[in-house]
Amino acid sequence: MKLKRYWIKTFGCQMNQADSERIALTLEKQGYQRAASIDQADLIVINSCIVRQSAENRVYGLIRNLSAQMSKCPNVQIVLTGCLAGWALRGQKKTNLERLRKRVGPQVTIKLTEDLIETKFLADLGCLQLEDDAQADWAKIPISQGCNQLCSYCIVPYARGPEVYRPAAEILTEVNRFLSQGYRQILLLGQTVNSWKGKGKVKTFAQLLALVAQLAPQATINFVSANPWDFSDQLIEVIAKHPNISRTIHLPVQSGDNEILRRMRRPYTVEEYLALVKKIKQSIPGVKITTDIIVGFPGEDKAAFERTVKLCRQVNFARAFIGKYSPRPGTIAAQLYPDEVPPQEKKRRWWILENLINRKGVDKN
Ligand code: SAH
Repeated sequence: MKLKRYWIKTFGCQMNQADSERIALTLEKQGYQRAASIDQADLIVINSCIVRQSAENRVYGLIRNLSAQMSKCPNVQIVLTGCLAGWALRGQKKTNLERLRKRVGPQVTIKLTEDLIETKFLADLGCLQLEDDAQADWAKIPISQGCNQLCSYCIVPYARGPEVYRPAAEILTEVNRFLSQGYRQILLLGQTVNSWKGKGKVKTFAQLLALVAQLAPQATINFVSANPWDFSDQLIEVIAKHPNISRTIHLPVQSGDNEILRRMRRPYTVEEYLALVKKIKQSIPGVKITTDIIVGFPGEDKAAFERTVKLCRQVNFARAFIGKYSPRPGTIAAQLYPDEVPPQEKKRRWWILENLINRKGVDKN
């Protein structure tokens, strides 16, 4: 019997990367072997991202290219999973799925990520690293799935469903296994990672993080993405106390204008965010803050954008992941507010923040 070979193409965030590693493991348990390249695969899994239209378009582009080649190799199977599949399959109206079907053609199988991962294998094996992973050295451990927050711009809750927490014991077992495999960098993952809740003795994210830090004194521990509203004093204390927890904290702010934050349904003000950053900087010497910012959200006029620039100066972010607002179907913002900031103006604002935060000191010639 000919050996079946697979290839996984991952778009988007670290959570998708972690999912792909687990899909790879499941496929290998089922007898598949990793292909040397995409054109040698019998099974191609596309783990998609739809956080912005541009990300979604990249998925369609790949499917178009593959479909064009498929006429030559009809036995190749293409499976589409990740957030595009989740958004289509979880949607209450069938129209999402029907539209996606039309777009990708009948030869593509659409599957939920969880249906491609056999959790029983995970209990004893961990995951497999994939070549296209910039963070291959990090043991990526999802501690929760989904999101309850419903930030108005964000499609992730619709694609990934409501928040579900993994039990602490399972997380700690996985940490141990990664340590015994030789990993020395541990990344705890969740859409709002610090909103994790446990049922037993370990109830809060701060308690969980302390346990992980104690379990892995020789490793560096990081977590993404934390949200400002669940960043408790207890959590700050735990980080301050354990030098093996990363001194770079990712704390998405999204905007420096209170009205825009309200429209984004981010439950904090600029003043509260700044007070939190101040507390973190005071308690954890040498800490660096990184962030996510959206430019050109509806209603962001020049004055509102200037307030974001001001906030960036005040915090002095070490890095920022800056995105131009992209209306996403079915989200609250897409329904309530027209996408009114012109693309050129979004680009201009993007460059201002990019130069201010990510290219400071870089010779631009
Ligand atoms: N739950 C995580 C990840 C959300 S997606 C978190 O809260 O950080 C990652 C980033 O993409 C977000 O922080 C946001 O800055 C950006 N983003 C999400 N939806 C967007 C949209 N519709 N347009 C532009 N950027 C968006």
